[in-house]
Amino acid sequence: MSLALRPDVLDSALLRPGRFDRQIIVDRPDVRGREGILKVHTKKVPLSKDVKLDVLAKGTPGFSGADLANMVNESALLASRKNKKKVEMEDFEEAKDKTLMGTERRSLLISDEEKKSTAYHEAGHALVAKLTPGSDPIHKVTIIPRGRALGATTSLPIDEKHNYSKAYCERMLIHLMGGRAAEKLVLNQLTTGAGNDIERATEVARKMVCEWGMSDKMGPMTFGKKQEEIFLGREIAQHRDYSEETARAIDAEVKKIVETASEISEKLLSGNLDKLHALAEALLAKEILDGDAIDEILNLSDKNKSKKKATTAGKKNTKTSKKDS
Ligand code: ZN
Repeated sequence: MSLALRPDVLDSALLRPGRFDRQIIVDRPDVRGREGILKVHTKKVPLSKDVKLDVLAKGTPGFSGADLANMVNESALLASRKNKKKVEMEDFEEAKDKTLMGTERRSLLISDEEKKSTAYHEAGHALVAKLTPGSDPIHKVTIIPRGRALGATTSLPIDEKHNYSKAYCERMLIHLMGGRAAEKLVLNQLTTGAGNDIERATEVARKMVCEWGMSDKMGPMTFGKKQEEIFLGREIAQHRDYSEETARAIDAEVKKIVETASEISEKLLSGNLDKLHALAEALLAKEILDGDAIDEILNLSDKNKSKKKATTAGKKNTKTSKKDS
């Protein structure tokens, strides 16, 4: 999501449309199924030794058999375009990202200002996920525009999840709000880039309250008969089977859930501004960071911190804030 959506994805993989729809999830192959499908489709494809089909299977939750077949074809095309004899893991990664997020648009003209806010936005998503125990590992963060997104952060689930716990949903909301929180904290600005994150967070929070009975205040009740249509934004009033008063209570509860997640995000980031700066700067320099690179940067930042503490006791990192021009 910035994660995606801009189709930014905090969890682009997890949050793709349909992931929350149980019927669709059940229809799609699970991780073992996907590995099997990949084995079949790559039988006649010359594979480099670095290609790990199990890793690819893990990184493609929600992909149908046809999506996987497309991904294999696309990776072979990419490899041949580069005159390679064998298809390498990076070709698969690129093909996967293309399937997941749309084609890279490196030619898109982006101002430095925009690049900077995208870098902080994505770094915010990634860092919040890193700082929240129980989060899925971050797979990749990029500020190369793809499709309609200026950047993306993707994480890979360790296990295939068919049911989401309340804690999982709350973590997801915190991740989603991380991009906006970073922009607000560091750049002192809010951009439209977070619009899709907010929309998705609101959608998840509303489902928690109305469909999944995860709100203590509203209790284990289902509100509204045709939830799907409600979430498509169609004729909400028509399907409403509750009072105006209840509607207001639901809205208030949804708002509270999203705001709480947003506050937690801001708190996490403001306590780790040095890491946020380090990640954003690395993103501006390299444009793409994988999970290992992110860990390295965060570890280095930890080391520097303890060094700094030893030499200049208590000197705080200065916050670079910018005003809208
Ligand atoms: Zn975002």
